[in-house]
Amino acid sequence: MVKWDADGGRIATTMFEAAAFRRGVRIRCDCGHTAVLNPYRLWWHFHSKHLDDEIEATMRCFRCTKCRRRGRVSIDMIDGGWTETALPMPSESEWKRAVARFRC
Ligand SMILES: [Zn+2]
Repeated sequence: MVKWDADGGRIATTMFEAAAFRRGVRIRCDCGHTAVLNPYRLWWHFHSKHLDDEIEATMRCFRCTKCRRRGRVSIDMIDGGWTETALPMPSESEWKRAVARFRC
């Protein structure tokens, strides 16, 4: 479900919404390490594995590449700026199919 901020902007609550809104997913570990991940690749990672892509549910899945601890992160969205390339991209047809389901 789409949420709105005080300025009328859409707040992504799932990785699919982050991708649909073209928002970079910034993940911050308790150790201070920060990464901005590609929302399309993240959505596809969770979707293709039939995992819940709700932001709150995904937080326990991330492992910090610096301190190696899992699930000690906070997540927020930023405009673009993602650099991660390790996860595979969804095909264009998969993405279009997901967007079509979202609009229904
Ligand atoms: Zn860390």
